[in-house]
Amino acid sequence: MSDDKPSLSINDLRKIYATNAGDELAIDLCYSHHKAFIKPMKVRDKKDLLKAIESKNEKLVQSNLDEIVEKYVRVEGYDNIAHMTVQERYQVLVAMRRAAAGDETKIVHQCPKCEHVGKDIPFNMTSIITKEFEEPAVGNIISTANGSIRITLGPIRRCDEKVLEKIIFDKKLDLMSERQFIMLAGYIHKVEVHQDDMVAEISMNASEKVEFFENLSSRDLDRITEYVKSTDYGVKLPFKFKCDKCDYQNDREEANVAVFFIN
Ligand SMILES: [Zn+2]
Repeated sequence: MSDDKPSLSINDLRKIYATNAGDELAIDLCYSHHKAFIKPMKVRDKKDLLKAIESKNEKLVQSNLDEIVEKYVRVEGYDNIAHMTVQERYQVLVAMRRAAAGDETKIVHQCPKCEHVGKDIPFNMTSIITKEFEEPAVGNIISTANGSIRITLGPIRRCDEKVLEKIIFDKKLDLMSERQFIMLAGYIHKVEVHQDDMVAEISMNASEKVEFFENLSSRDLDRITEYVKSTDYGVKLPFKFKCDKCDYQNDREEANVAVFFIN
């Protein structure tokens, strides 16, 4: 009798659960196209995040968001949730927030000109845009050192971003340009050495990527910058903004995801 029963794997079980447990949300990720399954967030975790946001400690907020993602999200195709690209992580966080609220909501936003923090600013959830990743026309391969080194580029992943943030913190890099420079190293996904008939991949952690990156020529740097500039994708939160305190206004202001997440 039991031989007639089909044998199902734990993966099948997850799929069945995800399809039938009505409160789990499923979305397609904007870079990998992997499916992400999101469970509804519990009040206790929301409270902890609120505390972090009130402390105005960006590091604490980000690590809280990481914990939330780890706890509530699983992705078919990523064995480690931190392998999500930075934009995929934002996409998941926005989806969590959106699932918990109706179309009309209020957000908090800091004016980019005078830094006044405005509250209760209307935001319509239907204006949220998710731009799928497209490989830019410039291509994602850089061949350098007379063709002996090949660098494959790709959008920065959360696991690398975390290490780069720590490097920025440890080196006390305060200038935006210095921070952006370090972050560029995160776009290096793979480095291969081509010599004679041999091809070898060099495995590097994020801090080794920074070291490698800092030794590249300015021509290579230009090509990485060009790649980064042409990969504008992910969740966009546009809204019409007019500051109460100064003359700044912008019809396509972008809401900050971390702040958006909690309101
Ligand atoms: Zn202002």
